[in-house]
Amino acid sequence: MINLILFGPPGSGKGTQATTIVSKFDLTHISTGDLFRYEIGNDTPLGRKAKEYMNKGSLVPDEVNIGMLENKLNNTPNPHGYIFDGFPRTIAQAEALDKMLEGRGTKVTDLIALDVDDEEIVKRLLERGKTSERPDDQNEEVIRKRIVEYNEKTSPVYEYYDKVGVSKKANGIGDLADVFNRIYDILK
Ligand code: ADP
Repeated sequence: MINLILFGPPGSGKGTQATTIVSKFDLTHISTGDLFRYEIGNDTPLGRKAKEYMNKGSLVPDEVNIGMLENKLNNTPNPHGYIFDGFPRTIAQAEALDKMLEGRGTKVTDLIALDVDDEEIVKRLLERGKTSERPDDQNEEVIRKRIVEYNEKTSPVYEYYDKVGVSKKANGIGDLADVFNRIYDILK
């Protein structure tokens, strides 16, 4: 079983790479950002709550994420495993994930961090914002806030999993196939 955390700053290519990796390894892709956008699209209470935070570039509170992720895990059993994309984004979320997986007799097997510098991120997200209709990609101030949130709250998750020996880095610059091959070499 593979339980891969695809890690890295916003715009580092996690979602794009996840799509290719899931089909190669028969995994289930869980993106908390996509789950929130689905809730927002349906104007649910959860979506309305998440939207307040997302549009400012802030993280959505831990308990909201943890509950949503647990539901998703319960509803999509997969003996081959999962790609977690956009989760965990805080140490508290990492601890919750460990507990959920432990309860299922498994654990995080890999964390791969896509390495991309800040200026490249801003450029990519503004470009994505032109066509994605994501409000959080259309405003440079919001993008920079997301990078600050990432550096302050999310990047410690790398060290957290490094202590148990599963964290690795992959260069996230280059064409999609090159980045995929770097990830594949780590996973295979
Ligand atoms: P990106 O990686 O481009 O920032 P995502 O789609 O993963 O995009 O996330 C978009 C937004 O959703 C985040 O900026 C944040 O507000 C919220 N979000 C997603 N996942 C989490 C999480 N695990 N914890 C807190 N907030 C989250």
